Amino acid sequence: MPVSTNKPLRYRQIHLDFHTSEHVPGVGAAFDADEFVGTLRKASVDSITIFAKCHHGWSYYPTKVGAPHPQLARPDLMGDMVRALTAADIECPIYISVQWDERNARIHPEWRVMSATNRYHRATPNDPSTAKQLSPAWHTLCLNHKAYRDELLEQAREVLRNYDTPGIFFDIITTPDCVCPE
Ligand SMILES: [Zn+2]
Repeated sequence: MPVSTNKPLRYRQIHLDFHTSEHVPGVGAAFDADEFVGTLRKASVDSITIFAKCHHGWSYYPTKVGAPHPQLARPDLMGDMVRALTAADIECPIYISVQWDERNARIHPEWRVMSATNRYHRATPNDPSTAKQLSPAWHTLCLNHKAYRDELLEQAREVLRNYDTPGIFFDIITTPDCVCPE
């Protein structure tokens, strides 16, 4: 596993937030590796977080564990980024959204957090549905579901096996109250 324990801390790190709905067409169609790296160099960026899986639950590389974004114009956008960045000595930690994954929230509604208090920060206040499940919000998933934990772990392994990265950024690790059967 590529772990950079002995390398010095990078000077300027940025987070390339990349949460892209399935309704957005042509994702990555205009990507230009030279322009991408050139822009980062001009800004003295030497580390940038890029995305394996976003809050919408879509992946930006040809994953066999999760699901590639249905409108991804470059089948391995993330890999193209990793290769260009590595060649330019710009570090790229890789991002995996954990408890916000709207695709899985739709496929596995049983994985959603079932709050005992029916209060969520992002939910519509007057949504009367159980655990505010009908609110137009990120629907937090409960990590007590082993099938989802296994999927997350397998996707992280897939990323680490196939791409040169100093590490994984697991985002959205929360501790909501949950009264689901698990
Ligand atoms: Zn639960």
